[in-house]
Parts: sequence; C-alpha cells; structure tokens
Amino acid sequence: MGKINSLASKIVDSAGAFKNKTEEFIRNMDSKMEIDRIENEIENLYMDIGEMVCKYFDSGEKLSLSGDITEKYKKIQMLKKGILNKKRILSNTMRDAVYCENCGEIIQRGTRYCPFCGNRL
Ligand SMILES: [Zn+2]
Repeated sequence: MGKINSLASKIVDSAGAFKNKTEEFIRNMDSKMEIDRIENEIENLYMDIGEMVCKYFDSGEKLSLSGDITEKYKKIQMLKKGILNKKRILSNTMRDAVYCENCGEIIQRGTRYCPFCGNRL
C-alpha cells in the first residue's frame, strides 16, 4: 500500500510540474504575441510617417516636422520602450534565455556575444 501511495504521489507531482510548465509556456506565448502586435504597430507608424514625407515631397511643400509626424515618432519611441520592458520580463521567466541589456533581444543562455548587436553578455 505504501508503494502505491508513493507512486500515486509521484504521478500527482509530475502532473503538477507539467501543469506549471504548460502555464509558463502559455504565459510566454501570450507575451510573445503581445510583442509581435506592438512590433506591427511600430511598423505601421513607420509606414505612416514615410507616406506623410512622400506627400510633402509630392506637393512640393517644405517638410515640416511639427504635428502628426512628431506625434507618430513619439508614439514609436514609447512603444519601443514598452517592448524592451516586455522582453526583459519575458526573459526573466524563461530558464534558457537571457536578455541583452544593449539591444533588448532575447538570446539563448550561454551565448557569449549577442548575435543581434555584438554586445558581450
Ligand atoms: Zn544585443
């Protein structure tokens, strides 16, 4: 009876560990999707700015950096900061990942130099 009980508790333990792993995985997937979404938003803002710049040139007007373009630029800076924070938090929850303080990318633990910016880790 003792053996069966200890076997049963082992099964319960590993089921619990599996559940924690799965929950961690889902949390990480959610943050990755959120990061993707913000990166898309930044991409769209860049395109908006590009379009506005082209319109200025098309109309022969002098380019003015006031108003909409500056607003969009500020939004991009804000979103980029948000992404860096999210990546930092995400890398803290992943045992096999580290966060590059220089460029904010998530890298495999044990890597000596960041493959994105060359920063020594
Ligand atoms: Zn880097």
